[in-house]
Amino acid sequence: YGDASQKVDYVFKVVLIGDSAVGKSQILSRFARNEFSLDSKATIGVEFQTRTLVIQHKSVKAQIWDTAGQERYRAVTSAYYRGAVGAMLVYDITKRPTFDHIPRWLDELRAHADKNIVIILIGNKTDLGDQRAVPTEDAKEFAQKEGLFFLETSALEATNVEEAFLTVLTEIFNIVN
Ligand code: GDP
Ligand code: MG
Repeated sequence: YGDASQKVDYVFKVVLIGDSAVGKSQILSRFARNEFSLDSKATIGVEFQTRTLVIQHKSVKAQIWDTAGQERYRAVTSAYYRGAVGAMLVYDITKRPTFDHIPRWLDELRAHADKNIVIILIGNKTDLGDQRAVPTEDAKEFAQKEGLFFLETSALEATNVEEAFLTVLTEIFNIVN
């Protein structure tokens, strides 16, 4: 019976992508440290954060990479995608263009990442439901067509953030086992 803080059975690299200001850094902050900041500055410096969790009695270290303000078209380099086994494709449910850009991000991802990468589409900021610009059904339909997992989250209210990471990590775990 191993101590999860000592022994690591797996390290899974997961990348966060999507337009600027959709909440990628806050989703990561919520997952890695259970923190949220309403006036978060554009990400600089830190490349990834980790959290170790137990899946089916194995210790899994999730290494989550965050774009350091490289969200401009094609600015995310192939090094960012290298070795990634999971991806979280994030848009903001209150900003239609961030959803309309998802196919472009998906193309980028498929061009650079491993073809078996596990992908989840995430509609963030559900706490701003009165400003919703992307119907849940539109995203669900797109995800289904493209073979992606899909969840709506709120990093602010900590809704579905844990579930989103667990969905990706458990699927990766099942693929390698
Ligand atoms: P990034 O550029 O994709 O990394 O976006 P950030 O994580 O920096 O978030 C951009 C802005 O949206 C910040 O002001 C965050 O506080 C805010 N934000 C992030 N997630 C949420 C959320 O779930 N709900 C609300 N209301 N605001 C959020
Ligand atoms: Mg950021």
